[in-house]
Amino acid sequence: MALSDDELDRYARHIVLPQVGGVGQQRLKAARVAVVGAGGIGAAAIPALAGAGIGRLTIIDGDTVDLSNLQRQPLFRTSDIGRPKAELAAAFVAVRNPHVTVTTIAERITPANAASLLAGHDLILDGTDNFATRLLVSDTATRLAIPLLSAAAQQFQGQVALFRSQPCYRCFVGNAFDADDCDTCAELGVLGALTGTVGSFAALMAVRAIVGIQPDTAGRLYLLDGVSLTWRQLRLVADPACQTCGRLDATNR
Ligand SMILES: [Zn+2]
Repeated sequence: MALSDDELDRYARHIVLPQVGGVGQQRLKAARVAVVGAGGIGAAAIPALAGAGIGRLTIIDGDTVDLSNLQRQPLFRTSDIGRPKAELAAAFVAVRNPHVTVTTIAERITPANAASLLAGHDLILDGTDNFATRLLVSDTATRLAIPLLSAAAQQFQGQVALFRSQPCYRCFVGNAFDADDCDTCAELGVLGALTGTVGSFAALMAVRAIVGIQPDTAGRLYLLDGVSLTWRQLRLVADPACQTCGRLDATNR
């Protein structure tokens, strides 16, 4: 996938990096990435991915902009209140980088549409704000064998992890959170600048994964504490009884 003169100029600061180079930039251009959620995480990740030259970006979000979103979602302006986030994010991307082909899905991801919306992507970045949706996205990604970058922020805590088949997100959180009524940042609060940091970190991990920058961080959980201002990392372990990737493992054997 050749780069035009305009792209060579646009991505010059990438191409000069030994870990990226022309080959890495071509991998970014060839990549198809789905971002689920154009909220606090997505509002930071989407501009970073568009700027990085991801060739095809799918933005999935069924929400409209609410006044209380503006504290943490810099993609949106006060005049955008009431308008669909997916469409606004896609319009932003189109202006930010005309080399990116954007697909807008202004609807909520559900068990009925998840597989068809996510199939055909090389990477899924999930920045949704509730466990039920995150588990749905993770289970679908696992079944479709698509790597998943899962990012979340709540109060002063952020967490980001790349999952590639095993362990999966469900190995990490278990089955207790499938109900749609569990905690979201609406109830607990979240620091606006924290969601931006976590979204940018998720975009960094996405770019690393697509370019193939080592070491591979799949299965490691990165935790940001905005109070003590520290990052920690944990190695996640696969749950042999996991109802998603455990079964997949049994099928493969
Ligand atoms: Zn699992």
